[in-house]
Amino acid sequence: MKTRAEALQSIENKSFDVCVIGGGATGSGCALEAQLRNLRTVQLEAMDFASATSSTSTKMIHGGVRYLEQAIREFDIKEYEVLTRALHERTHMLWNAPYLTKTQQFLTPCFNWWSVLYFEIGLKLYDWIAGRASLAPSSFVSRDEILRRMPALDPRSLVGAVAYTDGQFDDARYNIALVNTFAEAGGETLNYARVTACEKSTDGKIAAVEVEDHFSGHRFTVRARAFINATGPYADIIRQMATPGARPRMRLSKGVHILLPLDVLSSRDALLIPRTEDGRVLFAIPWSGRLLVGTTEQEVTVHDELYVTRDEVDYLLRHLNRYLAYPVTPDQIVSCTAGARPLVSSGGSKETKKLARDHEIELDPLSGLISIMGGKWTTHRVMAQDTVYAVEEYLGAPATPSQTMNHPLVGSAGYSPDYWQSLVKEWGVHELTAQHLAQKFGTRAQQVLQLAKQDADLAVPLVDGLAPLRAEVVYGARNEMAASIEDVLARRIGLQFYSWRDSIQAAPAVALLLAREFGWSDVATRETAADYTEKI
Ligand SMILES: Cc1cc2nc3c(=O)[nH]c(=O)nc-3n(C[C@H](O)[C@H](O)[C@H](O)COP(=O)(O)OP(=O)(O)OC[C@H]3O[C@@H](n4cnc5c(N)ncnc54)[C@H](O)[C@@H]3O)c2cc1C
Repeated sequence: MKTRAEALQSIENKSFDVCVIGGGATGSGCALEAQLRNLRTVQLEAMDFASATSSTSTKMIHGGVRYLEQAIREFDIKEYEVLTRALHERTHMLWNAPYLTKTQQFLTPCFNWWSVLYFEIGLKLYDWIAGRASLAPSSFVSRDEILRRMPALDPRSLVGAVAYTDGQFDDARYNIALVNTFAEAGGETLNYARVTACEKSTDGKIAAVEVEDHFSGHRFTVRARAFINATGPYADIIRQMATPGARPRMRLSKGVHILLPLDVLSSRDALLIPRTEDGRVLFAIPWSGRLLVGTTEQEVTVHDELYVTRDEVDYLLRHLNRYLAYPVTPDQIVSCTAGARPLVSSGGSKETKKLARDHEIELDPLSGLISIMGGKWTTHRVMAQDTVYAVEEYLGAPATPSQTMNHPLVGSAGYSPDYWQSLVKEWGVHELTAQHLAQKFGTRAQQVLQLAKQDADLAVPLVDGLAPLRAEVVYGARNEMAASIEDVLARRIGLQFYSWRDSIQAAPAVALLLAREFGWSDVATRETAADYTEKI
């Protein structure tokens, strides 16, 4: 990927076939799909890539067992279609970035034989809908076996469990890998570049957008033949920017997660809590050395600040503790996340938890803006595929076949599960660092280690005793457009999700390395470790 300064030069006042607004999962998927289908594409992101919803997900590549139950109970054909599509998309996500994804077994503890029967039938149906895309068949797990596999469970009244398999991924890194792959395919991309206004041609169609550079405040224009609005929760703002008075379509549902030490569950398997007080499901999933517990659902507006409240923490711990022999307390929480699901509604007052996670593509007949709304991470690729069909139709071009179904993302070529061992052998790094680098960068880990080889100062861990290296900060700044401490710690390295305490400790070193990279005069690097600490 180019540096921000280089990208600014290539984008400022230039013309493209397609301009994608948004750098989350949807926008990055659309940008890659369009560029691979021979449309000269530019992507503009107001803040950092994946800094909104796309790094706050439950990190599951799934159809959704809850949506299956909802589809059956409410005879909801739309929900069933989303489920089927997502179950098939799982395979492409797993295949396209093996270092960022894996399969994960989920155990649903049962306390009577009726629930065993209920979940066995339900999960067999889940397998059946997936058909050839099924990852592994669901099965009954005896009481002895579940207590062996998940020893922290409260054994009282437990009769057994039902196990099933879904996918799991690193959402922030997957997003960065999509952007990187798009850039390597010849696309132009820029973060911290907010679209602030539209310019129309005489027929009323958008011909250009005005863009503001977050750091300098400098404004410039980007022209394109088609504009894709892939701004997730912010989609209505762009729709109304294009056509003032456009009817709002987005309904936002806030969801939070807490991260706990892994030994709270002492298991490689994930726990599915099948029924919450508000009729939803909860997960406790081993992820990147932590236990990710979530999520909640509460309707919010685009103007609400997203932070984790004490009530939300209590809700998550109350449900989790019903399953554990030794209850977890809030002081064991190591970090939290909060995000807003961008759900699309056709009107009505259905609760957000009942809205289908389907996507919708809207062509605004007045401005020509193509908005892709709703959907989920798991379906980002097929959403992009459909959006680019809409773009081709709008441009009067023939429909071309999708190119992303089997298109490995950057870092995947030559990757295998034991790849990290070659890093230990060739570069002499500690096993934990090798595993961390392989999981975050795939085979691009070599480039990070090359930096460490050239400068011994960069071969040192960011925090004593932890896996991430200082070289990753420099790699993020030079190759992945990281421009702030949080860009590095949250979305490039993942330390912020692992532990707030450790990332606060790492912040001064990250600030210094960024300052050295960009020069002290750059506004972005004036963010101090203290600013960062206050923010998280
Ligand atoms: C709690 C939670 C759990 C979830 N769990 C899962 C899961 O396990 N599996 C799954 O498949 N899905 C899951 N999802 C859904 C999934 O995360 C979202 O569907 C997906 O991330 C949405 O991506 P997006 O790109 O549409 O939106 P976003 O990631 O929000 O990206 C939109 C981007 O547009 C940018 N933008 C806004 N305005 C402008 C502008 N004017 N100019 C330029 N850029 C702009 C924003 O800065 C933002 O980065 C979950 C969602 C939540 C909230």
